[in-house]
Amino acid sequence: MKSDIKLIDGSGKRLDGRTPDELRKIKIEAGVLHRAEGSCYLEWGNNKVIAAVYGPREAIPRHTQNPLRAIVNARYNMAAFSVDDRKRPGPDRRSREISKVISEALEKVVIMEQFPRASIDVNIEVLDAEAGTRCAGLTAAGVALADAGIPMIDIPVACAAGKIEGQIVLDLGKEEDNFGAADLPVAISPRTGEILLLQMDGHLTLDEFNKALDLAISGCYTVSELQKKALLSKYESIMEVK
Ligand code: ADP
Repeated sequence: MKSDIKLIDGSGKRLDGRTPDELRKIKIEAGVLHRAEGSCYLEWGNNKVIAAVYGPREAIPRHTQNPLRAIVNARYNMAAFSVDDRKRPGPDRRSREISKVISEALEKVVIMEQFPRASIDVNIEVLDAEAGTRCAGLTAAGVALADAGIPMIDIPVACAAGKIEGQIVLDLGKEEDNFGAADLPVAISPRTGEILLLQMDGHLTLDEFNKALDLAISGCYTVSELQKKALLSKYESIMEVK
């Protein structure tokens, strides 16, 4: 979308004062819901997201069961009050797409063979949305799965990079997402480096794509450290109480 909004000023700073390779502020808290097996509350800029994990439990309806392994059933939902114009409640094409790509990403890290016929349900509720909610949701889901003690090869993490005013930048904000040229959300398994999710909205040359991918992956590694810190601080405080 074209606009007259200047997304980068003369000194190279973005609308919210960030440099091109700077993330928005991120806050992660593990284990916030007592009825869920595992949970996470995450703030990423002005995004606010909760992830709750239930299971492994018998997959219902039974025809969805796989006799050899579990299924991961992620459900991404944006609250009606999470955006400027009240969003019509309930699933739509966008939330179905995001639920599908997040489920597929999580299935690549969960050790699925340990739970034949089971379903691991991951509810992702977006309470406040301001660009980058699929990355925030997947990152919260990774912490919630770890908090639930679900065996995984790694804690999945996501971050986006994009292009605004001809420049590749990390973690697009709302205006950057609306008026920028491209957005590239990426999720990885930090230990193996495997890409779990890669989507692109807009246009990039091959060079720009490679640069944006590298930048998004470096953002993933930074966020991954915050995920580990959130989990450590929950379990450290439990050990101190004991
Ligand atoms: P992501 O949130 O992963 O960046 P999109 O690129 O689809 O996903 O959406 C970008 C942003 O647009 C969202 O974070 C949200 O702020 C806004 N948005 C998405 N869907 C709606 C909607 N139905 N109504 C109003 N705003 C929306």
